[in-house]
Amino acid sequence: MGEVVGVDHIYLGEGESDFPEVCRKIIAGEKVPHVIRGAAVLGEAIPVNRKATIGGIVEIGRGCWRGCAFCSPAMRTLRHRPLEKILEDVRVNLIYGQKDIILHSEDFFSYGYCMGKPDEKKILELVTAVKQLHPKTIDVSHLSLASVHQSQGLLRAISEVVGVGSSQNHMSAWIGIETVSCRILEMHMPNKARPAKIGNWPEIVRDCYRLFAEESWLPVASLVLGLPGETAEDVIKTTDLVESLMDYTGLMLPLFFTTIADTKLGGRRGFAGEDALPEHWQLVGLCLEYNLRHLKKLHRLYRERMTAGPAVHAALKGINLMADIMLSKYMKRMKRGEPPN
Ligand code: SF4
Repeated sequence: MGEVVGVDHIYLGEGESDFPEVCRKIIAGEKVPHVIRGAAVLGEAIPVNRKATIGGIVEIGRGCWRGCAFCSPAMRTLRHRPLEKILEDVRVNLIYGQKDIILHSEDFFSYGYCMGKPDEKKILELVTAVKQLHPKTIDVSHLSLASVHQSQGLLRAISEVVGVGSSQNHMSAWIGIETVSCRILEMHMPNKARPAKIGNWPEIVRDCYRLFAEESWLPVASLVLGLPGETAEDVIKTTDLVESLMDYTGLMLPLFFTTIADTKLGGRRGFAGEDALPEHWQLVGLCLEYNLRHLKKLHRLYRERMTAGPAVHAALKGINLMADIMLSKYMKRMKRGEPPN
């Protein structure tokens, strides 16, 4: 804060609580603070959408209890919407032309989380009820690898209810690997592997990738580079892990650490290209190689969720081929430990 950003007001927090009242005051010309912090609402108070959402996203809950130091959902209390509200949102999406549904939360397996483990009954009840509304496909937005590892049978049961391999060819989810340096995990993400120990994290990641492949789930993984205190040795550990996952289909997204206000690392400086060590560029280059290797297959698999005609698909194929040619020179540079340009 204190930065000049050229706007009159900044609203931080959830929109459903105080935002309408703030707007009313601004329109009425009443005095409103420069920075407004909106309160969180209860799960039951998250309203049903009026029309379809982008990608058919239906919120099932908010917040995360794992408390990673760089993450904003970690600052929100974990809460979930009642089943009927979720189904109402799915119905609205389907009525307004959406065919595919993505169930959104920070960790799908935390729906109804109680006594330190996923509530399998509640999660399967939710998936079954959504399936009975007949969307073309069902996906989940985010999954915690620790939760999946803890309840591997649940992931298999979800695949069966959704009909992976019969009604739809795959399911996908965004996952956070972030790093496999246990030292960095202990510093900034001490709850990442719970209920397992942090030391088991590399094994958890590998086991989950095996499970995803067996069950035709496509993981889109994020890695965080440049967390405070990270050394070349920490980065090499993550690079070794990515090497071991190269044959599993998915996407790998290396992100430079960015500070987010109000998080535990909010006061730290973000990580920039000029801070990157050769080992960081090698990891980014390897992730690019991984993504280029799987992009064509992903395009083929994602076709069932796309309404685009043959011309668009032909263009996308062309873009894929171009990406191979155009990006390979940057990939080679980075794999040598050099910046891309
Ligand atoms: S597990 Fe993911 S969502 Fe939860 S606090 Fe950590 S980074 Fe954030």
